[in-house]
Order: sequence, then structure tokens, then C-alpha cells
Amino acid sequence: MAEIKRMFINGEWVEAEGGERIEVMNPSTGEQVGAVSFGDGRDAVKAIAAANEAFAGWSRLTARERSKYLYNLYELVRKHRDELAGIISAEMGKPLREAKGEVLGAADNFMWYAEEAKRVYGETIPSSVPNKRIMVMKQPVGVVAAITPWNFPVNMVARKIAPALAAGCTVVLKPAESTPLSAVRLFELIEQAGFPKGVVNLVIGNPESIGQEFTASKKVRKITFTGSTRVGKLLMEGAAQTVKKVSLELGGHAPFIIFEDADLDAAVQGLFESKFRTSGQMCICTNRLYVHESVLDTFTDKLVERMRRTKVGDGREKDTEIGPLVNEQGLNKVLDHIQDAREKGAHIAYGGQRLTEGEYAKGFYCEPTVLTNVTKEMKIYSEETFGPVVPIIPFTEEEVVVQQANDSDYGLAAYVYTQNNSRCFRMAEALEYGIVGVNDGAPTQTQAPFGGYKESGIGREGGYYALEEFLETKFVSFGL
Ligand code: NAP
Repeated sequence: MAEIKRMFINGEWVEAEGGERIEVMNPSTGEQVGAVSFGDGRDAVKAIAAANEAFAGWSRLTARERSKYLYNLYELVRKHRDELAGIISAEMGKPLREAKGEVLGAADNFMWYAEEAKRVYGETIPSSVPNKRIMVMKQPVGVVAAITPWNFPVNMVARKIAPALAAGCTVVLKPAESTPLSAVRLFELIEQAGFPKGVVNLVIGNPESIGQEFTASKKVRKITFTGSTRVGKLLMEGAAQTVKKVSLELGGHAPFIIFEDADLDAAVQGLFESKFRTSGQMCICTNRLYVHESVLDTFTDKLVERMRRTKVGDGREKDTEIGPLVNEQGLNKVLDHIQDAREKGAHIAYGGQRLTEGEYAKGFYCEPTVLTNVTKEMKIYSEETFGPVVPIIPFTEEEVVVQQANDSDYGLAAYVYTQNNSRCFRMAEALEYGIVGVNDGAPTQTQAPFGGYKESGIGREGGYYALEEFLETKFVSFGL
């Protein structure tokens, strides 16, 4: 067995209380790439206690002092970019180029919140009576429990802990069990950056047991979660026991709409970015492609041509554009959506199969796939696929396509391609989604708000919006 990586609690690297360990596998090859301690609620209790103990000291530091630690971490993450990217690629299959971009995105979050920590302003409000003064101050919420998924195993952590720490909160993080190695490496850098003990803690292990402690503990004042809508609902229910604050970044089912006046080459490129990055395993991935009937054939031909030139392979190879799915369960869900669509009348314009020959034999690979004749009855029309499949649906009327696009329980991201300025604004306003890419297939940026409407979540990450999620607002009334 490989070296056992441990959890980080109260500034110490520790084994799980129960002594359990798990192996970490590479989905490109099926090989073991590492092993970690696998804890449970008992370890979460210790980590929460450490974070609680550290809160008073950390929250009393000046913003400039807290900022210095975050800035140290920014520099360390940048310096170790290639190494972190290699770990991400080995444990979840993401192409190296994308993994490097992810690490730079994480570094950018540490820098942004190192700066933003200094701009947590309160305000004074004119009183309606002469002998009183109104002051509003912002204070950190307290101990934060963060739970992250496997698809962006470094940046999802950064997007949560950077604003929490900047606000003056202390943190316990539980990363996904399939991608703990990159979290461990990030925590080694956190240790190197010099954060005081107990300020940032890492617990790896049984999700139900740890989640149970996070939600039940009175010491935890905030849960921040990225993952499935199913688990988000469970955590929200659990957090109600002690009326904690919650931020939830959940599932998505993004519509991508191409009008007859769109630049079709730009639309193919935008679609490629929104659909195939991370092998289609992003919450903001396109899951329904609406194409105006008058450009349907031309666009489909261009897309299929782009698919033919796409290299699928081991994420660690330089020329790989699309890696494997994260595990067998993920692959089976994608294949099930393709099969279901096929049985209900969809036509396969490209791909459609699991790849099993040669270099693909031991990994969880699916061909990038283009489906036409897709209808509402098919699973892929309403369920999140989380894989490299594009279902194409033709349309003719703007009002109708808006209704179709909004007809979803999700509301995270939507995309529109058109060269008509008025339509750009009409669509941006009409789409019931937290993020709208207008002629942009990759809209995420550190300083912009990221989050969803409806069952895609509550709260926002990114920019000042994320900082607000970790702050309480206090009203102080001064009688003169
Ligand atoms: P998931 O099953 O909900 O897992 C996410 C995290 O929650 C993992 O750390 C997981 O631990 C943990 N978890 C699982 N069951 C839990 C429980 N009962 N209590 C507490 N924690 C629990 O989600 P996934 O399938 O891995 O990730 C994909 C989903 O995330 C998709 O729906 C995607 O759209 C969504 N996502 C959303 C965003 C966004 O920003 N909106 C971004 C990325 C992904 P284990 O790993 O140990 O199971």
C-alpha cells in the first residue's frame, strides 16, 4: 500500500480515530494512486472543537493580518501549480491543461480574498430620532463546515475556505472521498503558509457520519456545500435543527440556445467549453442544446466535425482534451441516458459508445456523443447527465424556446448565442438562471457571483458576494 496520507486537525497530521483507510484510484487506468486515513463523526467532533477553540484568536486578528496568511497561500499554490495539477489529474482523470487552469483559479481565489478581507465595511444610518445613532457592523459567523465534490477538488475548496477565512471564520473541510489527495496536498501548503493551529482543519471519511456531526453541532454556525441537490436537501434539513446558515451550490441542467443569427463557429467553441470540460462533469455544463431550425444541419455538421478532431484519453497525456468519467457509476449513468434516448427515438449523430479498446481498456471512457431528435420524454431532457453527451433540440420561436429553457427544476447556468443586441438583453433578463453566458461558453470568474436559482442552490460564491455569506450583520443603537 502507498504512503497513508492523514487528516489535519488542530495543526497536527492525525490518523482516523477508528483506524480505517481507503485507497484512491485513477479513473484513466484503474491503478491505485494513493491511500488516506478514512474517518467519521468522531474525527469531525475533534476538528469542530479545534476550529471553535481557534475562532476567538483568528477572528480578533486585523484583516491585514489575516490577509497575509491568505497571500502566503496564494504564492505557495502558484508555486506548486504543476504538482497539484498532476495530483488532480491522477485522482479524477481531468486533462492536465484543465487541471493547471483549476489550480490557477484556486490561487486567484486566495489572492482575491486576501485583498477583499480588508474591505469588510459596516455603515452608519441616519436615525429618525435626534438622541440616537445607528451603527451597522459586520462580524464573522463562527465555525464553518465545508463539504466539497470531486469535480474541482482544489478550486472548490479554495472557493469556500478563502472567503470564510478572510471574513474571520475558522473552518473544517470534508473533501470528496474519491479525490482526497489534492486536498491533503493543499493542506500541506496551508500548514506551510503558517495559519495558526485549529484555524483550518481537514477531515476525510464517511460522509453520512461526518455530515451528521456538522449539522447537529451547535458549535458549527454555517454549512457551505457543493454537490448534488439530493445531499444539499439533506444538509439543509439537518441544519434546521440548530438554525445554521447554509450556502448550497447544487446540480444544474443548463440550456444552450443558438439563434439563426449566431456566429456558428464561435457557438461550436463555446459549446465545447461548456459541455466537454471535465468530461462534461460540471454543474454548469450544457445539458440541453436548442438550435434554431434554419441552422440545425449546418451547426450539427460543424459540431460533429469538431468531435472527430477531439482526443479522448488519459488526463495526464499532453494532447488529451476529454478524459474518463470519474468512476463506473458515473459512466453507467451517461450510458443509460444515451440508451434511453435511443430507445425513445433519438438519433446518434456522433459517438454513443463506451470506449474499451487498447489504452481505454481499464478506464471509464465514453465517446463524446451528439444526439439529435431529442424530446421531452427522454431522461436526458430533464436529468443531469454529468458526461460528454450533447442532446440537440430544434426550435423556431424565441418565446417558445425561453419557456422550454426555463422549464426545469434547476436554475444554475444558461447560454445564448446571437448577434442581435436587443435579443441578448431580452434573453439575459428572461432566463431564470443564476449565470447567463451571452456569446460566452465559459463565464466563471473569481470576482463574479456564482450560484443558482430554484433547486440549484442558495447563496453565492465569488467576489464580495461570497464574503457576505460568512458574515453576520449587527445593528448597534447608541442612545446619546
Ligand atoms: P454528492 O454525492 O452530493 O457529493 C458531494 C460531497 O458531499 C462529497 O464530499 C460527498 O462525500 C458528500 N456527501 C455525500 N453524501 C453526504 C451526506 N449524506 N452528508 C454529507 N455529505 C455527503 O455529489 P457528487 O455526485 O459527488 O458531485 C456532483 C454533483 O455536484 C452534481 O450534481 C453537480 O452538479 C454538483 N456540483 C455543483 C456545483 C455548483 O457550484 N453548483 C459545482 C460542482 C458540482 P463522498 O465523496 O464521500 O460521497
